Amino acid sequence: MFAGGAHMNSSGFRAVPVGDAHVFNAALRKTYPVVSHGEGIYLYDTDGNRYIDACGGAMVVNIGHGVREIADAMAAQIGRVAFAHRGQFTNEPLARLAALVAEMAPGDLDVFFPVSGGSEAVETAIKLAHKYHRDRGRPEKRRVVARWQSYHGNTLGALSATGFSVRRAQYASMLLDFPHIAPVYCYRCPFGRRYPECEVACATDLERVIRQEGAHTISAFIAEPLVAAAGGAPVPPPEYFGIIRDICTRHDVLMIADEVVTGFGRTGRTFGIQHWDVVPDLMVVAKGMSGGYAPLAGVIASRQVVETIREASGLFSHGFTYGGNPVAATAGVAVLEYLRTHRLVERAAEMGTYLHERLRTLAAHPSVGDVRGLGLLAGIELVRDQATRVPFDPALGYGLAVVEEAMTRGLIVYPGSGTVDGVAGDHILLAPPFVITRDEIDLVVRLLDETLAATEAKHLRA
Ligand code: PLP
Repeated sequence: MFAGGAHMNSSGFRAVPVGDAHVFNAALRKTYPVVSHGEGIYLYDTDGNRYIDACGGAMVVNIGHGVREIADAMAAQIGRVAFAHRGQFTNEPLARLAALVAEMAPGDLDVFFPVSGGSEAVETAIKLAHKYHRDRGRPEKRRVVARWQSYHGNTLGALSATGFSVRRAQYASMLLDFPHIAPVYCYRCPFGRRYPECEVACATDLERVIRQEGAHTISAFIAEPLVAAAGGAPVPPPEYFGIIRDICTRHDVLMIADEVVTGFGRTGRTFGIQHWDVVPDLMVVAKGMSGGYAPLAGVIASRQVVETIREASGLFSHGFTYGGNPVAATAGVAVLEYLRTHRLVERAAEMGTYLHERLRTLAAHPSVGDVRGLGLLAGIELVRDQATRVPFDPALGYGLAVVEEAMTRGLIVYPGSGTVDGVAGDHILLAPPFVITRDEIDLVVRLLDETLAATEAKHLRA
């Protein structure tokens, strides 16, 4: 569908044709606009169309698109050295990144293991938790407890922890036997109760599962502070993570916070878990760490976990070729310094308050069931009936229809399905760059208002 064809460029080489005939996109029947460039909260395609990136792609872009000084820092590093293998060298940008991360992370979380993406980071945390127990003479502790309606990545270990039924389904027979507990989901409490009379049963349920499965087999518990793609940003009650922390400690189970989406300011605090004033043993980070400027992720481990391994075997046998490469590390340093210099975490909190205030006006739409989230991470759960909270028939793909309708208006929002029980339920996510202004938030909400009205006209009243 794209314009252009093979032609010679000025240096006499055959230029690559503009088109994606040779690109293996996951959605093989879909065509995409060709991105040209980005600036601030906007992306532009090669046809000259402008889009508001109201979800930072996939909750990635925090400092905004096209920040010159990040590109300059990366280019300068490439000019010095682009790659040196982690088995042979360490490098200064990596040391600076790890020091910055240690300064930003809570408690004694101050040792950073670098990788390139969120799934790699989750795999690393799964193995690291096991390695910690193994080095303490408890090698049978290898299973990770996770939650339903969660997303931790697409590699097989991370997918085993993931509680996103649709993504698991086709690979179920290949997955590890990781137990799952109920999600935090007050809008549709899995226990049919209401807060606070529920006594946060969704947290105390972890104890039941650990006992039933046998604490001697469980290495860790993993959870996103706010579930993004698989849940539409439901906010856990104030006691939730304190209860979880206590259960983990009592059963010698490491607590892993998956901060891939919530890390580095997205929810208005540096890390999402800080809203609950709890320090996990391991934190998984990615996306916002480099704001999309380079593939960069990692595990921030507590000093105690790392020292235990150092003193026992002295070796964590794990890693990836690109982990800790100096160019990605340079992007991370530049982005985190930019975040601090421009006080963007504080800005995410302030703009987040305004965004949520404005989004609540959308509740007038019959398809809007719930508006939730923290900071600049907002979820809107879509329902067929506001009063009864009945979801749409999954076959309708209502969430996707909203996303496509928004795209025709130049607004990019992130779809999610299976919100209710892994199969039924739709939501959309908003996660704009932190540099968004009040006027731009007004524009996003106006376009969303039009989008919801148009989608309802097509599907709800049909
Ligand atoms: N964990 C969470 C909470 C995520 O949202 C994602 C991706 O969206 C991942 C892990 C996996 O990250 P990646 O897609 O970089 O492998």
